[in-house]
Amino acid sequence: MDQQTEIWQQLSDDEMHFYSRQILLDGWDIDAQEKLKLANVLLIGAGGLGCLTAELLTRAGVGKLTILDADQIETSNLQRQVAFQPQDIGFYKAETLAKRLKQINPHIQVEAHNIRLTEDNAADFIASQDLVLDGCDQFATRYLVNQVCTQLAVPLISASAIAYEGQLFMVTADSACYECIFPKTESQDESLRCANSGVLATTPNVMASLQAHHALLYLGLNLTPLKQKLLLWNGLTMQQRIVKFEKDINCPNCQARTI
Ligand SMILES: [Zn+2]
Repeated sequence: MDQQTEIWQQLSDDEMHFYSRQILLDGWDIDAQEKLKLANVLLIGAGGLGCLTAELLTRAGVGKLTILDADQIETSNLQRQVAFQPQDIGFYKAETLAKRLKQINPHIQVEAHNIRLTEDNAADFIASQDLVLDGCDQFATRYLVNQVCTQLAVPLISASAIAYEGQLFMVTADSACYECIFPKTESQDESLRCANSGVLATTPNVMASLQAHHALLYLGLNLTPLKQKLLLWNGLTMQQRIVKFEKDINCPNCQARTI
């Protein structure tokens, strides 16, 4: 680490105060907090998942958040997308969320882009990140995020929420990927999007909390409890299951790249 990074990494008195309850934690010392401060995290989607995941990481002290979302806020978003209020309707989600995050924690950097992740811009956005958090509502984007993260060896924590159910898992450079669990042909039904289906206000927020929690474990403590494991949350029974999965030797994404 060069001298400039070391100085930037050090926490100011104000930051020490802001994060004091975290630094008091057993196992979470100043070192872990400084690792968070140096972290660059990309959030794909500023909807039901992204709103809360971004807010929790902002409060916890992740140094730089980049938020991507092309949509504008609609009335039907307010039921679950906790960053938005009625006066925000019509404004861009990414921009509005970023404004709120800066008000919550002045010590971090937030960048907002009112655009969708595409094949043309994905590598540029993902290459410089320490972690990508997917909370988008389109299968095509999920496959693209997975593909580029695998290609560039950038870790990915992917969350989804629909109706009363949620899923969460992590993809790393040497693990199975999204496409190993959900092969393209079986799960490309775009009609299963949140935008078209019902979702209880709490479901995305439960999954966003779990996603943010996993992100902190990874960034601060280098833990990967959901690497090659799929967490399934059932919001009707309140049960959580964790299922192990393996690399699909026929996966066109991660296997093609290791040959
Ligand atoms: Zn794969």
